[in-house]
Amino acid sequence: MVTLFNTLTRTVEQFNPIEQGKVKIYCCGPTVYNYQHIGNLKTYIFEDILVRTLRYFNYKVTHVMNITDVGHLVSDADEGEDKMSLAMKREKKKSYEIAEYYTHAFFKDCEALNILKPDIVCKATDHITEMIELIKRLESKGLTYLSGGNVYFDVSKFPEYGKLALLDLEKLRAGARIEIDSNKRFPADFVLWFTKSKFENQELQWDSPWGVGYPGWHIECSAMAIKYLGEQFDIHCGGIDHIPVHHTNEIAQSEGAIGKKWVNFWMHSEFILLNKEKMSKSKGGFIVLSDLEGFDPLDYRFLVLGSHYRSQLNFSLEAMEGAKASRNSLRSKARSLGRSTLEVSPEHKILKEFNAAIGADLNTPLALAKLRQILEDERYQPELRLGALKAADLVLGLSVDSWFNEEIIPESVQALLTQRQSARDNKNWAESDRLRDEIQKLGFIVEDSKGGQKVHKSI
Ligand code: AMP
Ligand code: ZN
Repeated sequence: MVTLFNTLTRTVEQFNPIEQGKVKIYCCGPTVYNYQHIGNLKTYIFEDILVRTLRYFNYKVTHVMNITDVGHLVSDADEGEDKMSLAMKREKKKSYEIAEYYTHAFFKDCEALNILKPDIVCKATDHITEMIELIKRLESKGLTYLSGGNVYFDVSKFPEYGKLALLDLEKLRAGARIEIDSNKRFPADFVLWFTKSKFENQELQWDSPWGVGYPGWHIECSAMAIKYLGEQFDIHCGGIDHIPVHHTNEIAQSEGAIGKKWVNFWMHSEFILLNKEKMSKSKGGFIVLSDLEGFDPLDYRFLVLGSHYRSQLNFSLEAMEGAKASRNSLRSKARSLGRSTLEVSPEHKILKEFNAAIGADLNTPLALAKLRQILEDERYQPELRLGALKAADLVLGLSVDSWFNEEIIPESVQALLTQRQSARDNKNWAESDRLRDEIQKLGFIVEDSKGGQKVHKSI
């Protein structure tokens, strides 16, 4: 059984998909105007755990993620500069070059973090037609208005507006700031299509029934999610910042157009904090994966798994050191049990408590603790414990297989290798050859390559 926290109801609910055995998930993807910082990556790790967990419990999952390459302004509402235009100015490149570069960088980070690639990755700029169709549908239902050349969603025509974020519309009206887009009738109204570009030389523009322009940010997710997952699906995810604006607006557009409930479960991951503040790209001062020198990217994955996705995570180098040490200790424990090719089914009783932990709203810290207990549980044969580790890794994604492929080089051999390296640096070839023979006597072969000495077991 899987239970999940649903932001819509603010409770942990039993998860049942619309279609038996199948789960459809949409996750808001990156805005590809910069690297994704480790806060963004925390959210993608959470989504990866969700998908892996559902697969582990035998659901057939379709996971869709968009790539935002147009329309996202610096604020999630209609304020601030266009993020892609900002990057074009900064890097003096074309919009598509920027998008391509950062999309590639994003998937490289995902690979390093062992985040599985979504089944469908869709770019906003490839789906302008679908967005226009959806806006036309909203228009035909009287849910839009034209003002100052832009098409707006009329929040007053959608009584349920704000239900996800529990917004108080009266407060919103009272607290509205004057300088907000004066074309809007109500502060929460939002742009579906811009024709009056707020920015000069807007590179990306398309023809539309309302004139040449470009889409607002929110419409892309509604249009692509409906295209790939249908008019009703199971789970929609993102970071908690998406609750009050982006996901609220997605619900208004989608439910406004289809006339019924759109998504059953809305799930959001909490932020990573740096010096007690939210890490954010727009504000600068953010950390990317390659900044974590001296760590394996999976140390970062381990850090994220060590706290629940709905808790804030305070980032620090000490916390990274802690995660690295815990990951190494789990690996040493596993290696001390030898090797195993035993396949253990997720239904085996050895995994009962692990399953209960991960099935209870993805409690990864508890699941990691249970895994440690399994490895130490002397009631079971080491082979079985290792088989359980491999099964658990289907969910955790720690690449445990590689733990057993890494050869352990004894310290005596390490010392000889160091001596041999200095002999070679001094061009003392006779000494180098003598040390090679010594190493061989200990059962290791050393080879010299451009990258330095390479050593492996001789048998
Ligand atoms: P963006 O590229 O800004 O659209 O964000 C990509 C994803 O990362 C979204 O799901 C955001 O909600 C999420 N996100 C943004 N900042 C953070 C943060 N500091 N910690 C965790 N997730 C974040
Ligand atoms: Zn989205």
